[in-house]
Amino acid sequence: MSKKKHIETEAIRTQLNRSEYLEHSVPLYLTSSFVFEDAEDMRASFTEEKERNIYSRFTNPNTSEFVDKICKMEGAEAGYAFATGMAAVFSTFAALLNSGDHIVSARSVFGSTHSLFTKFLPKWNIKTSYFDVNKPETIEGLITPATKILYAESPTNPAVDIIDLDLLNNIAKKHDLILVIDNCFATPYIQQPIKHGAHLVIHSATKLIDGQGRVLGGVTVGQADLIREIYLFSRNTGPALSPFNAWVLSKSLETLPVRVEKHCENAVKVAEFLEKHPKINWVKYPFLKSHPQYEVAKKQMKLGGNIVAFEVKGGIDAGRKFLNAIKMCSLSANLGDTRTIVTHPASTTHSSLAEEDRLAVNITDGLVRTSVGLEHVDDIIADLEQALG
Ligand SMILES: *Cc1c(COP(=O)(O)O)cnc(C)c1O
Repeated sequence: MSKKKHIETEAIRTQLNRSEYLEHSVPLYLTSSFVFEDAEDMRASFTEEKERNIYSRFTNPNTSEFVDKICKMEGAEAGYAFATGMAAVFSTFAALLNSGDHIVSARSVFGSTHSLFTKFLPKWNIKTSYFDVNKPETIEGLITPATKILYAESPTNPAVDIIDLDLLNNIAKKHDLILVIDNCFATPYIQQPIKHGAHLVIHSATKLIDGQGRVLGGVTVGQADLIREIYLFSRNTGPALSPFNAWVLSKSLETLPVRVEKHCENAVKVAEFLEKHPKINWVKYPFLKSHPQYEVAKKQMKLGGNIVAFEVKGGIDAGRKFLNAIKMCSLSANLGDTRTIVTHPASTTHSSLAEEDRLAVNITDGLVRTSVGLEHVDDIIADLEQALG
């Protein structure tokens, strides 16, 4: 009977025990604290002889359900949920690193993660060295005796490059590093980095996990002893996810597999349409044969994801013009929403970078990032087509 269930089933059937009211759908436990039977109960709870909820900065039933689901879907031992994806990223580094420690990271990481590495962690004497995702043979040369964490996202944002997780695992093992993967773009439905040796997996739940552009959230899951450190840091510093957002996100996970299937089905069609269009220089989508790491993507991903990157002919001006001509799709900073979103990184999110730094992470002047949504694919393509015209 204890046979492991499929990920779709875990996403639906992992839920809190029913209350005395025998509700079918899990209720919202909007409470900041919990009560104790007596002094002894309270003492034993605080010393952790008893596992129970004390205060929602530490744990809350809705938050625990959300974490349990992600753990089952990712194949992780334990986890902790955060108010945002960035709180998850920051708290993971802050909990595990000491002054003098060193990180080796892919150069193309989420913008705020990059700022964390360059502006804030150096304040505590934690330094980061970067490798080019298309030159993994350079990674080992960056490792020093102080290196503790090897960090990457795959697919990357916004250029959808793919990094071989098995290769990272081999390097992490050889040099005794903690391998941390931000799995936000893939979701646990498409890719499970722990199966490839990652010690920790981070998500911004704000993206495809919520999937409807409503709430912010984040989570780190993985090896129990590391999560314990992250938990102790977080219960004292306060980045906890709110019970309300945990409740929303746990409900969202019930539909993650079907949503992601459809997102990817639409994304493939959008990518194929763009690849044939005369005004496009190139299209990058992990499951197109033309993607430079197509074989790696096929090896480690179930589907290609919902992000399609492409370059409009004519540089920055053409990219801006294209965005201005979009009618239905949204111009927004989010991704993984039901609504298709287009962004032009060179003139917006990455405009403060020098051109050579942008090119180093494959953000060319005409690059457009599309987060393909769940509208009818013909309507998405029609909007892109008229904008290109
Ligand atoms: C959005 C995002 C984050 C940050 O998440 P927030 O919930 O916005 O704080 C981190 N990593 C990646 C890859 C993201 O896309």
